[in-house]
Amino acid sequence: MGKLIKFDHVNAHGDFEKLLSQYGIDYSKKGAQLRALCPLHEDTNPSLSVALEAEGDTLANTFHCFGCHQSGSIIDFAAHLDGGTLREAAEIVAELSGCGLAPAKTPKPAKASKRPAKDAKGSKREKPRPQTDKAAEGHSAPSERASEAKQSNQPLKFELKLDGAHPYALERVGQWGWFQFGIGVLDAASRSMMAGRCCVPIHNAEGDLIAYAGRHIGEDPDAQKWLLPPGFQKQQTLFNLHRVAGAEQVVLVEGFFDVVRLAQFGIPAVACMGTAVSDTQVALLKAANVRRVVLAFDGDDEGQAAVPAALSVLTRSLFTRLGALPVGEDPGSADEMVLRQLIA
Ligand SMILES: [Zn+2]
Repeated sequence: MGKLIKFDHVNAHGDFEKLLSQYGIDYSKKGAQLRALCPLHEDTNPSLSVALEAEGDTLANTFHCFGCHQSGSIIDFAAHLDGGTLREAAEIVAELSGCGLAPAKTPKPAKASKRPAKDAKGSKREKPRPQTDKAAEGHSAPSERASEAKQSNQPLKFELKLDGAHPYALERVGQWGWFQFGIGVLDAASRSMMAGRCCVPIHNAEGDLIAYAGRHIGEDPDAQKWLLPPGFQKQQTLFNLHRVAGAEQVVLVEGFFDVVRLAQFGIPAVACMGTAVSDTQVALLKAANVRRVVLAFDGDDEGQAAVPAALSVLTRSLFTRLGALPVGEDPGSADEMVLRQLIA
């Protein structure tokens, strides 16, 4: 049932800025060049470069990373991010760019296809803009950080194909983790940044998929344990909120697997994905009509040290109780009896 895809067309007309925004990747723009933290490796200063227009040997609408040395077209980049095939990546790019999979049939298509991608959209006008105008676009200027943040955590336009029967997934979260939460392992040969990781789909309060968190599986002590997409705003989301909306009381925990374990016993839980609770997260709970919160951070030093700050944010507007766990225990590993006492 394959639709006709003209890869040249999509590569030429794909909108790199929209693609980066879609994946929550913060970028700065200088002339026809974009710079960003590279999502294909663990990047600490922006080594991803995107050329919107051809220059020298560089083709238009291509990327190159000076850190991991990967490069290619906009479709290649989308395929790296989403881990799917080039066809799927081309569909993603075409849809979010609104350029179609192939040139529209017009009476005189001859010249239109040779035109550089951006000309039609008037990027020439954008190029020499002064700093103040750039700020108005929401890129690069520090004063606009807040508005950038508001634009992140947008619904994803793709889904990763995960393996819920992978031994690691089964051991960590059981079949329940797959059926209820869609947790599974992404093929290590995938080109996604989450390749080989145990991935947890994250949704917003409306139930739209907005990101994947990836847990490192192997023994490598240097690997980052949990990976989130660049630009993802943890503090604007509560993991699992869309599934517990309507519950009068929820248990607030640190991590994804804590939520899964509590859910196995029918205990509604959400995770703040760390040890910080934000005002936005409190507002989300209130909007979901949650009235009471049981705070159950991990029983380790880090979790317990974060309790006072979390309580002070929560108690400002929600009835909050501290759910005590035995020292050293966390909700992801505690006995059923201990967990049930949290909500008793
Ligand atoms: Zn890179």
